[in-house]
Amino acid sequence: MQTTSLVPLDYKADTGSTNSRVPLVPSRAGIGRAITHSTTNSLAMIIVTRPDATEEQIDYIATRIRSWGLKAEISRGEMRVVIGVIGPEDKIREKPLGAFPGVESVTPVLKPYKLVSYEFRGTHSHVQIGDVVIGGREFVVMAGPCSVESESQVTTIAKEVRKAGARILRGGAFKPRTSPYSFQGLGKIGLQFLAEARRETGMPVITEVMDTKDLDLVCEYADCLQIGARNMQNFSLLREVGRTKLPVMLKRGMAATIKDLLMSAEYIVSEGNFNVLLCERGIRTFETMTRNTLDLNAVPVLKAETHLPVVVDPTHGIGLREFIPSMALAAVAAGADSIMVEVHNAPEQAKSDGEQALLPSDFEDLVGRVRSVAAAVGRAM
Ligand code: PEP
Ligand code: MN
Repeated sequence: MQTTSLVPLDYKADTGSTNSRVPLVPSRAGIGRAITHSTTNSLAMIIVTRPDATEEQIDYIATRIRSWGLKAEISRGEMRVVIGVIGPEDKIREKPLGAFPGVESVTPVLKPYKLVSYEFRGTHSHVQIGDVVIGGREFVVMAGPCSVESESQVTTIAKEVRKAGARILRGGAFKPRTSPYSFQGLGKIGLQFLAEARRETGMPVITEVMDTKDLDLVCEYADCLQIGARNMQNFSLLREVGRTKLPVMLKRGMAATIKDLLMSAEYIVSEGNFNVLLCERGIRTFETMTRNTLDLNAVPVLKAETHLPVVVDPTHGIGLREFIPSMALAAVAAGADSIMVEVHNAPEQAKSDGEQALLPSDFEDLVGRVRSVAAAVGRAM
């Protein structure tokens, strides 16, 4: 399996430069809908080109496919170029895809998750969030508070985590809480505080969108949309985020199988947005000593089954501050592309998840150890 050298698709469509943002002014990066990729009868075919296929031949194949009204996604691996063809089954089947010069093989994707399957690209994808690329050789740490609580809280924590080595700032403005009486997030003003923290630190931000009615608002401020575990199978929300051009991090539902996670990702990608990250964040098991059971089995399985990058959230995965570093290091060793960690400067005052927040000093210590494990498994930081 190849793991490098993918030329990312649709990069320029994603986001603007983080540094060029104006404080508190909406970015509108996510506005503008992409074209839907598939229908209920759609089929995905993989054209693998010969190692000696020329650029002209590859261009010609893609141009002809598009002229038939089909979608062609070109992925460049180290040895070969793979062209994924998507469109209505009857239309694809009648086309002589194998007859083009430069084609080595044409095979249908038989897996139920087609566009996210590894073979659809034959190489791992890169997803760009602001100026940070996830899924390449570089290991990326995302960190920040569970909830955005105030401008000074999120900005202070953002500066601390950036100093320690985090590249992406997390923080929830819309919070999915088990109890309706718990803090529900600051909403729009929380998004504005995140935008201010981005302006002060230069870090792109990831934040959760819980409801389709808030999507346009969240897209105005976020560099990456988070779909929380409780919404992993909110199919109308998945389709809507699939119509934006922003990267999306999809968290595994607490009772979802790995296949369920992949099928949910397929909902997003089938709407045209390939910029999807999958996040293992722990599942419910019979175990009661930890908040969840972090299923690190999912990491190598996902890396084999899908081209999408894999993120691990050890914080929600185990839920106990003292054990989070061990699971974070294990996630790096298992082959994750990124980890997301909750950090708070005053966990005892946190409005949500204080018991699992690392102090900035502990986070800094963890990043140093993550760097060592990343190097041991061939990743840069
Ligand atoms: C979070 O990231 O704060 C969160 C609510 O995560 P999850 O959806 O995994 O519970
Ligand atoms: Mn949380």
